[in-house]
Amino acid sequence: MGLFDVHAHLTDKRLFAREAEVLAAARSAGVTTIISNGLNPSDNAAVLELQSRAPDLVKAAFGLYPVDAVLPEMLAMGETYVRDAAPVPSSEAVAWVRDHLDDAVAVGEIGLDHYWVPEALWAQQELGFRDRVSLAMEADKPVIVHTRKAEQRAMEILIEMGAPKVNWHCYSSKVKLGLRIGNLEGHYLSIPANARRAQNFTMLLQKLPRNKVLLETDCPYLGPDKDVVNEPKNVAGTVDYAAELWGCGIGEVQAQLEENFERLFGFIP
Ligand SMILES: [Zn+2]
Repeated sequence: MGLFDVHAHLTDKRLFAREAEVLAAARSAGVTTIISNGLNPSDNAAVLELQSRAPDLVKAAFGLYPVDAVLPEMLAMGETYVRDAAPVPSSEAVAWVRDHLDDAVAVGEIGLDHYWVPEALWAQQELGFRDRVSLAMEADKPVIVHTRKAEQRAMEILIEMGAPKVNWHCYSSKVKLGLRIGNLEGHYLSIPANARRAQNFTMLLQKLPRNKVLLETDCPYLGPDKDVVNEPKNVAGTVDYAAELWGCGIGEVQAQLEENFERLFGFIP
């Protein structure tokens, strides 16, 4: 049985420079699949290259981060947003994703962000989100969703569109809404490696249907300890924690999580 990380950013400069070490540490911890999520055109290209270097371990998801999706418009409005990548029109970014879907196991990360993005651009951001969800549905791929301060709206859109395969990455709104989402058919929530020190993730791990739980790290963010650069190997700690909360053995947790992964992504991690 293998552990997996459905949401990593291995191309982030903090991990990229130590790629061999990070992947070796993941393998040693029992991780057999890492889905590295692309944020923008240059990042998607880097994810594709990374996948070709370690195809047995790293699987690509290509996406457009909800802030990057409207970044040219945000900057034109005079907003500031610190980002490594240059702003690219979303049409150009999505055309690349469409052309490379055969190389991806999912479309992500995509979503809605009402925290950084000014309200004047919410309608445009939503149109783009719908467009990317359609793209995934046409290709029969799951979507990996990031939302910030817009979870309810994202849920309404995904229900309305009938999106059949959804992973909510690092869901951080109210637990009650998270449980509602976790009970929707085809919707999964991936719990990050900081769960032990985060009350909302602890509650979700306790209360979500167990067949709707997945593991992620969001590395290099959200480490098990504050100020530590997170890595895929840390999913092992979340399995230990789930076993404590569920009152069962680690093997049972791993078997459940692996089954969940296969149901959503269509292959054994
Ligand atoms: Zn992410």
